[in-house]
Amino acid sequence: MAKVLCVLYADPVDGYPTSYARDDLPRIDQYPGGQSTPTPQGTDFTPGHLLGSVSGELGLRRFLESRGHTLVVTSDKDGAGSVFDRELPDADVVISQPFWPAYLTAERITRARNLKLAITAGIGSDHVDLDAAIAHDVTVAEVTYCNSISVAEHVVMMTLSLVRNYLPAHQWVLDGGWNIADCVARSYDVEGMNVGTVAAGRIGLAVLRRLKPFDVRLHYTDRHRLPESVENELGLTFHASAAEMVPHCDVVTINAPLHPETEGMFDDDLIATMKRGAYLINTARAKICDLDAVDRALRGGHLAGYAGDVWYPQPAGPDHPWRTMPHHGMTPHISGSSLSAQARYAAGTREILESWLDGTPIRDEYLIVDKGTLAGTGAHSYSTTAQARS
Ligand code: NDP
Repeated sequence: MAKVLCVLYADPVDGYPTSYARDDLPRIDQYPGGQSTPTPQGTDFTPGHLLGSVSGELGLRRFLESRGHTLVVTSDKDGAGSVFDRELPDADVVISQPFWPAYLTAERITRARNLKLAITAGIGSDHVDLDAAIAHDVTVAEVTYCNSISVAEHVVMMTLSLVRNYLPAHQWVLDGGWNIADCVARSYDVEGMNVGTVAAGRIGLAVLRRLKPFDVRLHYTDRHRLPESVENELGLTFHASAAEMVPHCDVVTINAPLHPETEGMFDDDLIATMKRGAYLINTARAKICDLDAVDRALRGGHLAGYAGDVWYPQPAGPDHPWRTMPHHGMTPHISGSSLSAQARYAAGTREILESWLDGTPIRDEYLIVDKGTLAGTGAHSYSTTAQARS
């Protein structure tokens, strides 16, 4: 029988919800491109309910316990003595979410002697040391596509919010003011701007598609070029690297995974080549940007705004400089954890568990590491430390 250790964010401060703002979710059976949404044999939750916090348990308890397995759910994940550290040594499966990541470091993977499967209930498995997972033959899987559109919507929201100066204007309303000049002194139209994405995968391409009707000029860079038909349809300009692309852009959005090739990409040098007054949106991973370089560029006025929802470490401490830098539109890590997304990644987590427990193959598109090597989506989008060095 397996022990499943699941790390989720804490319940709301006023308790687990007893009612919701809406009664249902739109039904979505397929993602763009045709991949089906998760297809578990069954689910034990109501779509639209809070599943990603401790009491929601990703809707897994009845399923696992009815098969005789053990489920431990906690939000206490950091430091020696945490519930996560205590429960890890004999866990067979670890489930974690990027929003509240249980960092599976090389040291923790070595200590987790029974660990065979690490599931990301979401997308982005950089909180798992993939080199160590490969070395210890731990399978790493994530629910590919489950929240890609959720994040793309967030990127569009943040682009418009920054460029139009929405957040400070809203603050004037909350403060009882009517300070139109204060609100509009940093407010522009997006129309006509050059917008570029670093990576045009599921999220990046969805962002490009959603911004197209705003009559902007669209740019992208990626390791693999999109089909010519897509480039023509969206009027895309391809650039061979981020360094080539960013000097042309008024808005840059980062949609690449964090791996050795992308870590620290937006440092002082790259940001200095961006247009003065450019906006940078990062909902991918914080470490793709140099924390202090972003802070300096905002304070010095080189960047007009920075927004995103990804921080390092997570949760960010009260003194994290990104909380207080000027002209930012940061949220906690939420873009991929809407109630709509939760229903998909809870179902996808169950699908992965069913496959693994039944000894049937996990969908190739969910795999990041398998059988001691990058596999499936992981082989396409990630790199190991050794690959990055070569
Ligand atoms: P995809 O795998 O669909 O797309 C990732 C893209 O990044 C691929 O096209 C890949 O290229 C490209 N890429 C990888 N390395 C580079 C590089 N060095 N330079 C340029 N492009 C590169 O993933 P998604 O679009 O679904 O998600 C992207 C990332 O967004 C996730 O890895 C995760 O970190 C983050 N995310 C954040 C969420 C949030 O809540 N804030 C939620 C979900 C995801 P190719 O495949 O062509 O080699």
